[in-house]
Amino acid sequence: MRRYELLQSIAPLLTDEFVICNLGFPSQELYSIRDTDHHFYMLGSMGLSSSIGLGLAMEIDNTVISIDGDGSVLMNLGTLSTIALEDRKNFILLIVDNGSYGSTGDQPTHTAKGTSLAAIAKAAGIASSVEVAGVDAAEKLAECLKTPGPHVIVAKVEPGSPALTPIPLSSLAIRDRFRDAVKQART
Ligand SMILES: [Mg+2]
Repeated sequence: MRRYELLQSIAPLLTDEFVICNLGFPSQELYSIRDTDHHFYMLGSMGLSSSIGLGLAMEIDNTVISIDGDGSVLMNLGTLSTIALEDRKNFILLIVDNGSYGSTGDQPTHTAKGTSLAAIAKAAGIASSVEVAGVDAAEKLAECLKTPGPHVIVAKVEPGSPALTPIPLSSLAIRDRFRDAVKQART
């Protein structure tokens, strides 16, 4: 299973959650599978999907899911300690771990050489941190959606992405419609 198929498997679970999606191929893939104004597709700020998601979760009651990658989390490991410290019940970090920097040519990351992001997350203080096979990610996410977080799910998948075109939305359009959806959720 690759990230694309994993995203296909979890898309039916998403209803009123807000999703912050990592830049590059992950956002293009999620957009092509299912697009709503509850999705924020990052176009920059590599490594900050979890930080943006956590900040949002601190301000709204809806569940926030940050979909991040192994390479991105590795460049912002401090985020795991902050997630533990803030202890938001409505926050889920889904790390799609393909052991590679998928958007830049599949160069291997540390997780391909043995680093366990789930173990790091647990050591950072996030009790609900697990590593699952990609095929089991949807079942685990469904379980996490029903129980208080924060949760970290590290889903192991194969590298590789289908050929997709860039998201045909401007950065301002992505921002504005997401902001409107958040405002609506808060009223
Ligand atoms: Mg990756």
